[in-house]
Amino acid sequence: MNARTLNRRLLGSRLVDSLVGPHGIDRYLELIRPTLTVFDARARVVAVEHQTERTVTLTIDPNGAFTGFRAGQFVKVGVEIDGVRRTRTYSPTISEYDVRLLELTITVREGGVVGSYLRSHARPGMTLHLSDAAGSFVMPAERPDRVALVSGGSGVTPVIAMLRTLVSEGYTGQIDFIHYGRRAADWLYKPAVEAIASAHPNVRVRYVATREGGERFSAGTLSRDAQVFVCGPPELIDAVRLEHPDAVAETFTPPTLDVSDEAASGTVRFLRSDVSREIAPGTLLEQAEASGLSPEHGCRMGICHGCTCTKQAGAVKNVLTGEVSAEEYEEIRICISVPVGDVALQL
Ligand SMILES: Cc1cc2nc3c(=O)[nH]c(=O)nc-3n(C[C@H](O)[C@H](O)[C@H](O)COP(=O)(O)OP(=O)(O)OC[C@H]3O[C@@H](n4cnc5c(N)ncnc54)[C@H](O)[C@@H]3O)c2cc1C
Repeated sequence: MNARTLNRRLLGSRLVDSLVGPHGIDRYLELIRPTLTVFDARARVVAVEHQTERTVTLTIDPNGAFTGFRAGQFVKVGVEIDGVRRTRTYSPTISEYDVRLLELTITVREGGVVGSYLRSHARPGMTLHLSDAAGSFVMPAERPDRVALVSGGSGVTPVIAMLRTLVSEGYTGQIDFIHYGRRAADWLYKPAVEAIASAHPNVRVRYVATREGGERFSAGTLSRDAQVFVCGPPELIDAVRLEHPDAVAETFTPPTLDVSDEAASGTVRFLRSDVSREIAPGTLLEQAEASGLSPEHGCRMGICHGCTCTKQAGAVKNVLTGEVSAEEYEEIRICISVPVGDVALQL
């Protein structure tokens, strides 16, 4: 064990943490260097690259509190913007065996806060907050005999991690990699993927520009016996699942939640902000935003738990499951919850 690891172990012991007082040791260590923390996972940006006009690729150096990930999973990344920490979910794009430096590729969405900020402000030396990795978009431990990795737009990130992981394992089965972008200028990772394919004859690559005459996914695009992993917009996933019903899929696009007939009457109270409003159609996140609040959130689809907050009182309905819950002091995800009557949130 080297001196650095030993120091980390000592500083990271719960005994030392409790001896330094109520704030814990990380609050002191971060004063020396923001990424010196032993419990809070953080990373320092070490390189910034722009693969396309609408993206930024960050190479980041995570501290010892980051515990790794499985290819395809996501990490919640916190960025300080004008004094407020905004958290979004991003999928690391490196092999899961190679976590000394992580790589993230972030696409700018119209009107999006964090993507636009990172595209124009990310610089070496910037500090990012990381969560543990999570998510079920992963390959089975026993690898399938034949794999197809299909992506659309920004959805390339988790499948790049899968490709790099399979290659670093020495996987010998056939890998078909297909990426759809609107235009050739939007394609991501083409030189890196082609370099892999030229060194590994079992990897076949296709890049398709759908708005420049490229053929969309259809019957016959892939062999039927491949295990397909697809990440992209819902239309791409639907097209793939028509041909490959057991495809493992993930999308970054929040669904349009049908909350039109969910509106109840009553009041939503945001207790910490001292704001109240009459219930309107929409999720509690949308109702908070319509009241001028900016609650922490990530995926807007119930995956990342970034918007979890305490409901002090009242009943809410989970619009994904239809389940109604009326417990007091209950943790709810406000991006997928609608009020059923009066509700009080610790927000
Ligand atoms: C599992 C998972 C993995 C992901 N991995 C990646 C990745 O590797 N790379 C990547 O680029 N992205 C990834 N994403 C998406 C990413 O987490 C963000 O959602 C995305 O980058 C948008 O964040 P933003 O802050 O730029 O935009 P936001 O500010 O969150 O806005 C997103 C969209 O919502 C709209 N919007 C914002 N506020 C409101 C409002 N008040 N009312 C209505 N609409 C609003 C905006 O106009 C915009 O179109 C992933 C998402 C998931 C769920």
